Amino acid sequence: MHAEIAGAGFAGLAAAIALKRRGWSVRVHEKEAELRAFGAGIFIWENGQRVLQAIGAYEDVARGAHQAPGYETRRNGACVSFERINGANPFLLMTMTRQHLYAAILAASAREGIEIVTRSAAVAARPEGVLELAGGRSLKADLVIAADGVRSAVRDSLGIACSRQKYQDGIARVLVERGSFVGGAWDHVIDFWAFEPRTLRILYAPCEDGRLYMAMMSPRNDPEATRLPIDPAVWAGTFPELTPAIEMVGSRGRYDVYETSYLDTWSFGRVAILGDAAHAMPPTLAQGACLAMMNALSLAEFVAKGADLIADLTRWEARERALTDHTQARAAELARTRALGSGMQWDDVGLRAARHVPTGTCPEEFPRPGAGTRAQPE
Ligand SMILES: Cc1cc2nc3c(=O)[nH]c(=O)nc-3n(C[C@H](O)[C@H](O)[C@H](O)COP(=O)(O)OP(=O)(O)OC[C@H]3O[C@@H](n4cnc5c(N)ncnc54)[C@H](O)[C@@H]3O)c2cc1C
Repeated sequence: MHAEIAGAGFAGLAAAIALKRRGWSVRVHEKEAELRAFGAGIFIWENGQRVLQAIGAYEDVARGAHQAPGYETRRNGACVSFERINGANPFLLMTMTRQHLYAAILAASAREGIEIVTRSAAVAARPEGVLELAGGRSLKADLVIAADGVRSAVRDSLGIACSRQKYQDGIARVLVERGSFVGGAWDHVIDFWAFEPRTLRILYAPCEDGRLYMAMMSPRNDPEATRLPIDPAVWAGTFPELTPAIEMVGSRGRYDVYETSYLDTWSFGRVAILGDAAHAMPPTLAQGACLAMMNALSLAEFVAKGADLIADLTRWEARERALTDHTQARAAELARTRALGSGMQWDDVGLRAARHVPTGTCPEEFPRPGAGTRAQPE
């Protein structure tokens, strides 16, 4: 059995590794010339960590990723919610640079001997199992996977109905040095919100190697706050405690508006749609990549035997769709209402995906490792 995969992002690589480990031959096509992660930092909840373990990337990720002892929300400078996480606590969350996560998954791909072809843009697929590349080559496969991101050309070539929605806010993502932001509460993930005099948010997340990820949210109709390079006076005026970090941002960052895409179906014939190509969502629950990797692993589980591939794809979607739809809908609601400004929702509605044991992973309790840069609670 052979798969041709469009896109060497988190979804495409996770699918490639999971299929290869189940005896498939796979080839991944990446349109860019270089294999690298776009963006700044990323949160990986327990469900994503379990998938990383199942694809052989967990150890490399955990080695270095930050495991904060607490998750705090501050509104206009006052703490409105605090939860202990990691260690013996129920919620496992790692924060890291995207490159750290991507490098670990790439290393796992290399160990499996997976072929990744760069400068290889996919332009279309055919339901009988053909991936078409720019330049005119057509590649036949038992399974074609469209993991080519939110603007998926492969998905669009199939004519699958896709509804898109944009929201009122967007985020500029930046990485700076942690500098003096070390120790005590500065080792926590801290979600800083302000609604007066204007709506702004900085999600503060320590990462590996002394890096600090800041996701700087602002309404897209606020020209001063969305301006890039960021205006330090606007941000430091609202979050004075973060001034040294804000002053380091300089010309870094890119502003992306929150967006959802929803498909009627995740497959058409022998083509499966995976990750953001299938279910992009606002990052309010930090689950997009976690779900992308979860659904990739599950896809490999369902098609592993290859007896009736089209029926397997239907069963795969039937198993995974409800949780993904729930998470996407909840993420959209949080984007619309800005309810995170009153504190993280530590309940089953918000964190159902985070607590889910993904298909293809071991149901036992996840190991709570001593690796990484876990700090002690104050
Ligand atoms: C601001 C923000 C913050 C986020 N934070 C988190 C978080 O903390 N935790 C989390 O789990 N998720 C988070 N997400 C979501 C996460 O980034 C995505 O869900 C995840 O990257 C999706 O992975 P993917 O592989 O499906 O797509 P992508 O990461 O977009 O990868 C697609 C790949 O396909 C390639 N490609 C594109 N077109 C073609 C083509 N035609 N042919 C070949 N290759 C192609 C691209 O170059 C890329 O390498 C966040 C998203 C945003 C916008």
